[in-house]
Amino acid sequence: MNDEQVVEADLTWLEGSFRPNIQSVTGADGRISEVGPLGRTTMNRLADRAILPGLVNVHSHAFQRGLRGLGERFPEGAGSFWTWREAMYRLVESLSAETLYDLSRQAFREMLRCGITCVGEFHYVHHDHSGEGFALDEIILNAARDAGIRMVLLQTYYQIGGIGRPLEGGQRRFRCDSPRKFWRQFDRLAGQPGNPRISFGAAVHSVRAATIADLVSIHAESVRRGLVFHIHVEEQRREIDDCTAAYGLAPMALLNQRLEVDERLTAVHCTHTTPEDLRAFVQSGGSICLCPTTEGNLGDGIPDIAAIRSAAGVICLGTDSNVRLCPTEDMRWLEYVQRLRSESRGVLTDDEGRVASNLFRMATESGARSLGLNCGSIAAGNLADFVTLDLKAPPLAGWSPETLLDGWVFGTGEDVVDGVCVGGTWHRFR
Ligand SMILES: [Zn+2]
Repeated sequence: MNDEQVVEADLTWLEGSFRPNIQSVTGADGRISEVGPLGRTTMNRLADRAILPGLVNVHSHAFQRGLRGLGERFPEGAGSFWTWREAMYRLVESLSAETLYDLSRQAFREMLRCGITCVGEFHYVHHDHSGEGFALDEIILNAARDAGIRMVLLQTYYQIGGIGRPLEGGQRRFRCDSPRKFWRQFDRLAGQPGNPRISFGAAVHSVRAATIADLVSIHAESVRRGLVFHIHVEEQRREIDDCTAAYGLAPMALLNQRLEVDERLTAVHCTHTTPEDLRAFVQSGGSICLCPTTEGNLGDGIPDIAAIRSAAGVICLGTDSNVRLCPTEDMRWLEYVQRLRSESRGVLTDDEGRVASNLFRMATESGARSLGLNCGSIAAGNLADFVTLDLKAPPLAGWSPETLLDGWVFGTGEDVVDGVCVGGTWHRFR
């Protein structure tokens, strides 16, 4: 994409509502240079289409796409996160560079197909069967590049196999020996010739996978570098029990006490985090990433969203295990679980009582904040990342500009997605 593009759809999602007669101009740098009723000659007129900002998937492990359809039978009775993790480790042990590439590219293509234009890839499977060399880091970069998705590679530190335990089995493919070696590999990856769609952030897998000293060290260096930093927190009660037994504090309390929490820090899941710890974290600027489909599939539990909202905390969304890739499903299930629990309707409302636009904001603007990117809304200066909907698709029949977003979020999936644009490059599906 070398030239300026002027795009106009029948409707454009702008500042919280659908508006007609809006043109957006994308420059050669892949960013929006102008948007509004510009009166420009339209080169790309998208008839019977609505255009919205592309969805931001904050948390993915692309390789886990290989588990889809597996682990859903329970001949020995109920399973758990921990029995699922054994299946995931078996997949890890079987991965070659080729299968990792194929699974990851497949996952990234499916994300684009359902309207996700940007993914935060929480990447911890670093090594091939030799258990060293970080050869698989390049594979993920290649898969994202070839699929055409925007990616923030969240390069992930993983050093121990549980609090006070060595790595074992498939975990050896995650190994990072020390923060020094971690940053050396990070610099090697980030120093390669630039791809405008790929950027980098740092992660520590969890308090289960690093000593507190290494966690503090890597987070401090990521702050110094101005990077976003992500970590899994309190998805399972066992993690809280083990952490409290070892350090006298639950994981989130430990983060609040030991890290300089700010808007670049995202905690993923927080399923069992106390209201006090949640409020302290989000009041310092941290984001909470929830992954409703995966959390439901794994039987994790229900996070205390009321506590996050009471402190005006930022919630964003991730697809995590990629057992199903459908952002509208994640959006509505975030709301539905709270409805089921509260026996009421309209839980995650905004100031005007709207649910879908609030969920959509979590899946776009809040995700962009978590990943440190200028995207998630159609505005001058932002990345030209869009999703378009087919207004003639039967599942949307009966729409009006006032009901279209609600109908999309609550009633449809990837079946109405017409195409996506990533930094000015279009992918069409219909
Ligand atoms: Zn995860």
